[in-house]
Amino acid sequence: MKYCYMCKARKPLNDFGSNKSKIDKKAAECKLCAAARTKAYKKANADKVREKDKIYREANKDKIKHYRDSMSKEKKEERAYKAKKARQADKENFNAKQRAKYAKDPEKYRKLAKKWIANNPNKAKEIAKQSRERNNTPEKLAIRAERCKKWIKNNPEKRKVACDKYKSSEAYIKKIIPVDNPTDEILYMYKAHLILQRELRRINNGNSKAVS
Ligand SMILES: [Zn+2]
Repeated sequence: MKYCYMCKARKPLNDFGSNKSKIDKKAAECKLCAAARTKAYKKANADKVREKDKIYREANKDKIKHYRDSMSKEKKEERAYKAKKARQADKENFNAKQRAKYAKDPEKYRKLAKKWIANNPNKAKEIAKQSRERNNTPEKLAIRAERCKKWIKNNPEKRKVACDKYKSSEAYIKKIIPVDNPTDEILYMYKAHLILQRELRRINNGNSKAVS
């Protein structure tokens, strides 16, 4: 048995980590206290720890890759499972952190997401389908439609800008173009045609108002 100066408890020797500089080759604090101290330190020095970890990772890329490759499938799954559990246990905190990270550099995360979708098309489709099923229930659709109506009523100018933007978008033009599999050139010309039509309509409207 050994006395832990931190929690003031007497515990079996196995409950203490090793410390070669000590006479009994055991740490002065029990493993639980040591873990708590490490955790508190990391929390209080988050930026410093993150920076240090980053430097370590950069300097030991090969070592880390080798270690990861050498892990068994079970070990990898266990690690993924533990990480998932930790995320779930701290869901709100985790989500807030993710949002903050995203807000810092949205372009980076949009790119990462795109890459992931390209690499996992089937999984992405399945997730999108699940999300639609979750979010497109009649009740939720009705709430969204109501919210949308209100927004349009309160933001006529923004709505007009959004409308014009959409009507100049490739997605819209592809939707309404009366040609099967249009080439880029045809898309471009059709867009020009639409803009011209719009402008003519605007001029005509102006004239008719001026006349009347
Ligand atoms: Zn202790």
